[in-house]
Amino acid sequence: MALKNEYLKDIYNNLSAKSAHEPEFLQAILEVLESLEPVVERRPELEKWGIIDRLVEPERILQFRVPWVDDSGKVQVNRGYRVEFNSAIGPYKGGLRLHPSVNLSIIKFLGFEQVFKNSLTTLPMGGGKGGSDFDPKGKSDAEVMRFCQSFMTELCRHIGQFTDVPAGDIGVGAREIGFLFGQYKRIRNEFTGVLTGKGLSYGGSLARTEATGYGLCYFTEEMLAAAGQSFQGKRVVISGSGNVAIYANQKVTQLGGKVVAMSDSNGYIVDEAGIDFKVIQEIKEVKRARIKTYLDYVPSAKYVEGCKGIWGVKCDVALPCATQNELDETGAKALVENGCIAVAEGANMPCTPEAVTLFQSKGVLFAPAKAANAGGVAVSGLEMSQNSLRLNWSFEEVDQRLHDIMVSIYNAAAGAAKEYGMEGNLVAGANIAGFLKVADAMLAQGIV
Ligand code: NDP
Repeated sequence: MALKNEYLKDIYNNLSAKSAHEPEFLQAILEVLESLEPVVERRPELEKWGIIDRLVEPERILQFRVPWVDDSGKVQVNRGYRVEFNSAIGPYKGGLRLHPSVNLSIIKFLGFEQVFKNSLTTLPMGGGKGGSDFDPKGKSDAEVMRFCQSFMTELCRHIGQFTDVPAGDIGVGAREIGFLFGQYKRIRNEFTGVLTGKGLSYGGSLARTEATGYGLCYFTEEMLAAAGQSFQGKRVVISGSGNVAIYANQKVTQLGGKVVAMSDSNGYIVDEAGIDFKVIQEIKEVKRARIKTYLDYVPSAKYVEGCKGIWGVKCDVALPCATQNELDETGAKALVENGCIAVAEGANMPCTPEAVTLFQSKGVLFAPAKAANAGGVAVSGLEMSQNSLRLNWSFEEVDQRLHDIMVSIYNAAAGAAKEYGMEGNLVAGANIAGFLKVADAMLAQGIV
């Protein structure tokens, strides 16, 4: 542990003792506390008012049983979670993840990160996250619907447009949001913007589907531009092939780059001619098939079993867009040796701390998830605004606002890093900039 400040050290040691079985949560906490050392030293009132002690503790954790009946008539039971982390600057806001790896540690780490990310967007949203260990892969539409209905039957008593507004994440796309919304509306007898990522026919926002991937590229473009670079002519590797990865591919291509590799949890494909995002969209969004079927469309492409090897594919820019801790030190070394100049996190915490340290020590430009993938929740915030106004903005209008928000997030992170003597360190800058607004709101609201 590299913490030097006694107040922060105490907080971390206490939390480590209490949450020893929550490694992802502790990993996310430590990274933020390290960044906040110069802030805590400059502002003693943060310790006096116990701001960090309160910040690392979720306001509320909900865990519940989700029983449902599969197509063979058998009863299945999953675990549901919602962690309402911090509501200092607005209603809890953050996605729902459906994946067999989901547990409380993962939901707490995601909820904690969400607090800072939402603050960075400048929109009035607190942080939360939820999900279940249910695996939608291989389930029929009817099974997914019954699961979502059961999940929402419990969740609906805890959420609301002014309280907590969930959205999608891994395993939760348009289909799942539709089922969840339908059940909320039925039980609560109200049509409100209680979820974001909704379909366009019932209150969704144009450009929400594209927002995280596009926003990631807008942020990366700013980071590259500050170093006199751009996407033009660059080879780009994107891990994952879900919502974030697909639209990152589309935007990279529009900005003049070439996406040469993508993956799923089974393996990765390499296409030297550039991977067409429409083919991946068809495979993943329409057919819900594996990425290796890309070879049926483009026989000249190559498929390699196992997803970790993707970081050995030579590239100038790497965009990890699958899941947490997917890019470790070995992957980072391979990227550096192959001359990669920039890494931007599309997924949440995809790079291990060792990988981040290596990038920073080798002068690789590095964009942390909290800042770089905030475009999704930013447009979710814009969806909430449109729902409240009972108006729909055009695709171009939402995209322009998204672009402006990503530029302002880059400037806020770069500016905070400079102000606190860590110029160029966007990890520290994003943590500090996100923190300050939440801390000031907490100070103003007293000990709650
Ligand atoms: P999707 O479910 O659409 O896609 C996830 C992709 O990552 C799939 O290709 C999946 O492969 C792969 N993946 C998931 N888990 C693993 C794993 N354990 N090992 C290897 N590969 C894995 O999710 P999203 O694109 O929405 O989310 C991707 C990341 O981006 C997550 O970290 C999420 O938290 C983050 N994010 C998403 C936002 C959004 O708006 N959707 C907003 C901000 C962050 P397979 O199909 O084989 O499982």
